[in-house]
Amino acid sequence: MVRLSLEELYKEVILDHYRAPRNKGRLDPHDVALERNNPLCGDEIELFVKFAGDDVEGIAFEGKGCSISQASASMMTEKVQGLPAKDAQLVAESIKRMMAGEEEGDVETLGDLISLKGVVKYPVRIKCALLGWNTLLEALEEGGKTSS
Ligand code: ZN
Repeated sequence: MVRLSLEELYKEVILDHYRAPRNKGRLDPHDVALERNNPLCGDEIELFVKFAGDDVEGIAFEGKGCSISQASASMMTEKVQGLPAKDAQLVAESIKRMMAGEEEGDVETLGDLISLKGVVKYPVRIKCALLGWNTLLEALEEGGKTSS
């Protein structure tokens, strides 16, 4: 088995999600819809979330922008779909700390998301990578699903 370096994994995963985004499109009906952008790069995202009790039952996004912003949003939806909202929040907060260089990132929890760490080397891209995750956190809050 070939072991990919973080750099290779990063390129591979980002490209894969950029070319074939998961959960792309509107989600109707939804409980929360939020439009956010990253003016530094021109990235846009509209996130749709549907809750079932305290779980993220459905999540989808529309958007345009650079490959990192769109791939990261796609990865985000794939990861948190079906998760309890509090677990989705934990993952998003962990990604934010990892991107801020405050923690290494736990492969077991994050899986392929660990590849986003490849972005840390490109500081101007960090906002691109976090757009989807920050929007998710806002959506959870708007849905009344966040715990502090
Ligand atoms: Zn961008």
